[in-house]
Amino acid sequence: MSRRLAPLKSQLVELIALLEAGIDFAEDDVSVAPDDALLARLDPIAQGLDALASTFRFGRLVHSGFSLAILGRPNVGKSSLFNRLLEQDRAIVTEIPGTTRDLVSETASIHGIPVKLVDTAGIRDTQDRVESIGVRKSYEALADSDLTLVVLDASAPLERLDHDLLDRTAQLGNRLVAANKCDLGTCPELPAGALPVSALTGGGVPELRQAVYDAAVPRHASSEDSGFITSLRHERLLRESLEALSRARAAISARLPHEMLLLDLYSGLRSLDAITGATTVDDILDRIFSTFCIGK
Ligand code: GDP
Repeated sequence: MSRRLAPLKSQLVELIALLEAGIDFAEDDVSVAPDDALLARLDPIAQGLDALASTFRFGRLVHSGFSLAILGRPNVGKSSLFNRLLEQDRAIVTEIPGTTRDLVSETASIHGIPVKLVDTAGIRDTQDRVESIGVRKSYEALADSDLTLVVLDASAPLERLDHDLLDRTAQLGNRLVAANKCDLGTCPELPAGALPVSALTGGGVPELRQAVYDAAVPRHASSEDSGFITSLRHERLLRESLEALSRARAAISARLPHEMLLLDLYSGLRSLDAITGATTVDDILDRIFSTFCIGK
C-alpha cells in the first residue's frame, strides 16, 4: 500500500513545495505556476488516489459479492433468465436459506464475483393491485439490492406494469433492462439500452452477464490489479484525502489565495500520512530547495 501510494504522495508534496515556495520566497522571484498548471498537477494525483480507493470496492466485491434483483411482470421470463444466469457456474451455486418467503435467492459467480440473484417472484398476480404485498416485497428487494435487472417481454407490446417498473427504477442509476424472448421478435418500443436476450436459446446471456459485471465493478478495478485495498481504514483515509483535494481544486477554480489552497492540500497529505507515515516540514523544505534556486 505504501509502495503504491508513494509516487502520488511525492507528487502532492511537490505541489505543496511549489506553492510554499511562491509564498515564502516571493522576494526570490520564484514564479508560481498558473492555475491550469496547478490543476494539471493536482488532477493526476486525485485520479491515482481514486483508482486506488476503487480497488477497495473490488476487494469487497470479491469478498462479499453483490446482489441483483430481477424484476418484471409475470411470464416475461424472469425465472428462466435467473436460471440461465445461474447456469454457468453451477458448481458454486448455493442455496441461501432463510430468505424472504416470496423471494427466491441463489448465488452465482460472474467472472469470479459472487452475485446473489434475487428473483422477485412476489410481483406475480398483482397487475390489478399495484400496492399489494407482493409488489411491496419486490420493491423492498429492489431497495436492498446493489443492482436491478428489469425484464421485459420483447415479443409483445409493453404493458402498464412494464412502464410502471421502468419508471420506478429509472432513477436508481444501477438498473439494467433485459428484453427477453427476443427469439420471438422485438417490439419497437423497447427503452434505449435494453439488452436483447433469450432465456430460451441462451442468446445474449453472455452479454448480459458482462453488463451485470460492468455495472457492479468499478471501472479502474480489475482482478489484474496487482492488489487491492481491503482495509476499511485505508479506504476511508483515501476518500478523506480525495475530498480535501477536491476542495483544493475548487479553491484553484475560485482563484482563492494560495494559503487557502495549501490548507486543503495539507489536509489531503495528512490523510495519506496516516497510511504511510508522516511527512515532515523538512521533507517539504528539501523539496523546495532541490526544486528551486533558493539559498538556504
Ligand atoms: P416469469 O413468470 O417472469 O418468471 O417467467 P418464466 O421464466 O416462468 O417464463 C414464462 C414463460 O415464458 C415460460 O413458458 C417460458 O418457457 C417462456 N420463456 C421464457 N423465456 C423465454 C424466451 O427467451 N423465449 C421464449 N420463446 N420463451 C421464453
